[in-house]
Amino acid sequence: MGDPKGFLKISREGIEPRNVLERLKDYKEIYKPTTEKFVAKQASRCMDCGVPFCNSGCPLGNLIPEFNDAVHMDEWQKAYEILIQTNNFPEFTGRICPAPCEAACVLGLNNLPVTIENIEKQIIEHAFTEGWVKPNNISEESGKKIAVIGSGPAGLAVADQLNKAGHQVTVFERNEKPGGLLRYGIPDFKLEKSVVDRRVDLMKSSGISFRCNANIGFDIDIAEIEADHDAIVLCGGSTIPRDLNIPGREATGVHFAMDFLEKSNKYIDGGLQQLPAIHVKDKKVIVIGGGDTGADCVGTANRQCAASITQIELLSKPDLQRGDNDPWPLWPMILRTSTSHEEGCQREWSIQTKKFIKNESGMLNGLEIVKIEWAIDSKTGRYDFIEIADSTTIIDCDVVFIAAGFLHPQKVGILDQLGIELDNRGNVATQNYQTNLSHVFAAGDIRRGNLWLSGRSMKAGKQQEQSTNSLWVKLNWKVSMSML
Ligand SMILES: Cc1cc2nc3c(=O)[nH]c(=O)nc-3n(C[C@H](O)[C@H](O)[C@H](O)COP(=O)(O)OP(=O)(O)OC[C@H]3O[C@@H](n4cnc5c(N)ncnc54)[C@H](O)[C@@H]3O)c2cc1C
Repeated sequence: MGDPKGFLKISREGIEPRNVLERLKDYKEIYKPTTEKFVAKQASRCMDCGVPFCNSGCPLGNLIPEFNDAVHMDEWQKAYEILIQTNNFPEFTGRICPAPCEAACVLGLNNLPVTIENIEKQIIEHAFTEGWVKPNNISEESGKKIAVIGSGPAGLAVADQLNKAGHQVTVFERNEKPGGLLRYGIPDFKLEKSVVDRRVDLMKSSGISFRCNANIGFDIDIAEIEADHDAIVLCGGSTIPRDLNIPGREATGVHFAMDFLEKSNKYIDGGLQQLPAIHVKDKKVIVIGGGDTGADCVGTANRQCAASITQIELLSKPDLQRGDNDPWPLWPMILRTSTSHEEGCQREWSIQTKKFIKNESGMLNGLEIVKIEWAIDSKTGRYDFIEIADSTTIIDCDVVFIAAGFLHPQKVGILDQLGIELDNRGNVATQNYQTNLSHVFAAGDIRRGNLWLSGRSMKAGKQQEQSTNSLWVKLNWKVSMSML
């Protein structure tokens, strides 16, 4: 351990974001580049505590105290080698992981945690600059052929691991380019697509094949894939969005968040010649859903110069500090203000949506809402809400994005055709990642689901089923979890 008293002398400092007015003019990454010296100083805050909770807080089990120490000692190559023992793609997690490791950092007990995510990003970017990141070196080929269906972070991680084990891997992707939600969900200001391309190019150099525009179960028969491969890994994600079935849903101007984000991302990537079909310049926008997807809609709408943006959430406004029910090292259910929120947006909590209002031509022009109050029902012990009398209002709007999460994977196609068994939430049921078919495996959101947990029911000490109309607090550690 480099400096046992580092945390007493140095305060936490994150990487500086670009000025809001400047960054709103483009879709480039929000954070400014930083220096090795700055990051090494931050790494010296790591206490190398006896039981590193950061390590168990990280879904990948990253060896955090070890790489922090190497960075502090200016041993960047050693830090890189430690980091990649557990993490296939630190350049993704170093940018977009919500960092449960930092929530679990022991320093967080009475101080601010170590900036672990930034350190991770700096280690991998340093490694790329130095040329240390090389295609996989495969010593022995197994002679087995594996098909990976879906190229999101789960499919990419699976392909990378199988390639390292000497298998011949082909990744099938129905979209034009690989990356899944890394490419078509998450906007460039959080993750520039050159970062995804750089990794995919490296994987191709390692011998992994990518077949895009291949919608398995539709364009290509799953039986053909089965006949041609020894095993299949399903990594198709959780793609069926939660809808809001209230009156007026059919109004022109009501969209799922992903329809908006995907089109915008394709446009920024040069994949669309004209402005995307859903564009919000000078429009009054409402985003329904207070999670990451909602925040990404806010950031994108601001860059498209929307007239106004309001984000509404069913749950009540979280506290700024941990409460009695989410003590360290649990994930804190606190108010989160993302860089997209900082760029401008009205946020409202404890709001129930009642009706989309449309004009005679069917165009959306308002959203009827009612204020609600949350309380624990003394009879059932469940967190529930009541509508506040006389609080109904109509918010003017031209566009609404529904960002209320995802229900489960698409069943029509591969899952139906193969007869894959599902769990009680509609995700692929597995044991040790193996489905009911011995040659078919599953990983990522298709297996684990889009992790939505009720903040309130967690506070009440239980997990309850979601109702169609409720929006849930999301624990956003999914990219790293999806790699599992
Ligand atoms: C807008 C948005 C923002 C997010 N931001 C964050 C964040 O900041 N941090 C974080 O940790 N998590 C975030 N998440 C969650 C994270 O992106 C997902 O948990 C993760 O991408 C899931 O990975 P996956 O590989 O399982 O699935 P996906 O990324 O969904 O990839 C599945 C892929 O499979 C392909 N596919 C599906 N069916 C077929 C088929 N039949 N044939 C061929 N291909 C098929 C799809 O086209 C897709 O490319 C965000 C999610 C969204 C929607």
